[in-house]
Amino acid sequence: MFGIMKRLARYYLSRPVLLKSGAVENWLRDHENVTIVTSPAPRSCLESIIMEKRFPIIMDPPIEVLALDKIVHEIKTSWIAGIGAGRVMDASKYLALRTKCKLCLIPSALSTTSWLNMAIALRKNNILFFPGARHATATIVDPDFILKAPITLTLGGLADILASCSAITDWEIAEEKTGEKVSRRGIVAFKNLIEKILDQQDIYKQGTPDSINLVYETFLEALALCGASFSGRPVEGSEHFLFYLAEETCQKRFVHGEIIPLMTLVALYLQDARAFIKPERLREFFDGLDLKYSPSYLGIGRDEMDRILANASKFTTMRKLEYTILNDDPGIRKGTVNPDLLDWLYAL
Ligand SMILES: [Zn+2]
Repeated sequence: MFGIMKRLARYYLSRPVLLKSGAVENWLRDHENVTIVTSPAPRSCLESIIMEKRFPIIMDPPIEVLALDKIVHEIKTSWIAGIGAGRVMDASKYLALRTKCKLCLIPSALSTTSWLNMAIALRKNNILFFPGARHATATIVDPDFILKAPITLTLGGLADILASCSAITDWEIAEEKTGEKVSRRGIVAFKNLIEKILDQQDIYKQGTPDSINLVYETFLEALALCGASFSGRPVEGSEHFLFYLAEETCQKRFVHGEIIPLMTLVALYLQDARAFIKPERLREFFDGLDLKYSPSYLGIGRDEMDRILANASKFTTMRKLEYTILNDDPGIRKGTVNPDLLDWLYAL
């Protein structure tokens, strides 16, 4: 049953995807009546074709749902093409949901799961908000186009999959403490996938079309395993919850591929003996890919990190987020922060 569900999920996830170098320019050349939603860097790579075709453009779409609502009326075309990274993908999906336009997603970096799944993550009054879901009509993964952006953006996307290092243990803890139903096959499959990802470091970091193909395959496999597990739990646990709280505490936006590695290490540290892998091993992998994730690099002060951890348990309860190590760790439950953890983080 699990194997059949995984194959089905892979089929549905990959159905709109065209994986081909040169495919972005070809798609834009072949289509009329398209509103482009993008940001400056990907736009500059496609400047000549965009100018030639005179496509209407929405630059740097907001992430606040109410601000997006105000630009819905500007779209008069039958297609929306979202060309960019995570934020552009989410905004394009929302605009397509509201206008019922056909939707082409063109990731400029495989930096989050947003280009491959149908979930839409926005903000409402600065708080994470999920207004619905929208499938892409077409998704174009063009390795040559993606390689024009810094490769660390796409390699940071692997961290969104490696969030499973902490998320699967969170899921197991929830099963043990709350009786939440888990997928045993899903958990085993994710553990195998994590080991495989850690073994493939050399190919990922080459920064060639083959690396992009492998990152694509890794995303597809991970989301298909979520589909077969009937849950997003394997790729979203305490590490993502800490990231949501960090944005609210620090009042700023982080790059997903920088904050998720950091918070996955924090979650693994808290999971301690129960963690599926040691934080040091994952840290070595991130360092091998040249990812930047230290709290100092991200501009998170020690006092802010202290507040994030002290409020984590209260935050997850208030937001009714799933049970994780943040509800289970005695120190975090009481709101007391282990100074050794802070010392470790600020030595990263
Ligand atoms: Zn994520």
